Amino acid sequence: MRVLLVEDDVPLSAALTHSLRKANYVVDCVFDGKSALNALAINQNDLIILDLGLPDMDGLDVLKTVRRQQAQLPVLILTARDKTTDKISGLDTGADDYLPKPFDIDELLARLRVLERRIGTASQSVVTVKNVTLDTVHHSLTINGKNLHLPRRELMLLKALMENAGRVLSKHQLENKLYEWGEEVTSNTIEVHVSHLRKKMPDHFIKTIRGVGYCISKSGD
Ligand code: CA
Repeated sequence: MRVLLVEDDVPLSAALTHSLRKANYVVDCVFDGKSALNALAINQNDLIILDLGLPDMDGLDVLKTVRRQQAQLPVLILTARDKTTDKISGLDTGADDYLPKPFDIDELLARLRVLERRIGTASQSVVTVKNVTLDTVHHSLTINGKNLHLPRRELMLLKALMENAGRVLSKHQLENKLYEWGEEVTSNTIEVHVSHLRKKMPDHFIKTIRGVGYCISKSGD
């Protein structure tokens, strides 16, 4: 899940980014409205966290533009202005959810999970494919009932593939889910992660679709 965080309060942005990354989100941070719109034109963000009070433009205008371009993209708005009118205009403009500042980070994470479920990449927090079960909230993995710890990127990779079981994900799509803007990604990064992950998974769990990408079958073979 790749999040665009639009927040001009630098300490708050840093704290949120830290918590979101710890919860295995990929986070792109921008600090004004213009950069937010630029980022959206380039990245494949799955979700936006948008502060309404931005230095260069009103967050609601950012939201309007987002809605014109990507009608389905989930947007959660943040604002220090806890007036009911702001909440109503935000929701009227097409925000999916609203969180007044100050808020608890756990509250934000819970709201994000609801949005994630709504967009269907995660229909539930526990995904099971064959004898492999991944709890995407607690980041725990069991294979045949045995717990297994995975490094962060491998866990993110597995999550992406399991949530899309039955669908092929290209290397590019996986890079997008695992890496942020400006992070160094070499051409074989995904292959390396897949090969490490494969050694820990049941035989033939992750399939390579030559020239296309990777896939986990829902059942059977
Ligand atoms: Ca602000």
